[in-house]
Amino acid sequence: MRTITLIIIHCSATPKGMDIGVKEIDRWHRQRKFEQIGYHWVVRLDGTIEKGRDEYLIGAHVKDHNTHSIGVCYVGGLVNQPGADGKIHLVPADTRTPEQKTALRQLVNQLHLRYPKAIILGHRDLSPDLNGNGLIEPNEWLKACPCYDVRTEL
Ligand SMILES: [Zn+2]
Repeated sequence: MRTITLIIIHCSATPKGMDIGVKEIDRWHRQRKFEQIGYHWVVRLDGTIEKGRDEYLIGAHVKDHNTHSIGVCYVGGLVNQPGADGKIHLVPADTRTPEQKTALRQLVNQLHLRYPKAIILGHRDLSPDLNGNGLIEPNEWLKACPCYDVRTEL
């Protein structure tokens, strides 16, 4: 049995409204030479919870923390936004649908019952604390993922 100390929330870094799930992410991750999808669970736009990698297997979703964590991914996390250069850019945003918010809460609650010692964090909360003040601040995020504050919103 793995000892799970972290439940880590991710976004799929796909544009708002793009309706994908485990099948597509599994294909993308295999293209990146993963054995299979790196996340354990995926929450689709309509709130459907899909199973990815088995929980007893080590995931592939966060540097240095895979051995002791469960990876949960909601579909979305990017929106189109016009930039100063007049072109459209994809930028990080909290694109969770109401159904995804409900499903994420249910899924994380179930996981927390199974792994009561686990702390629930967003991917970006595991960025290094560069100035050593004990807080992971926006300027220290390696990535924006999952594009919302898991510690205050779950
Ligand atoms: Zn992530």
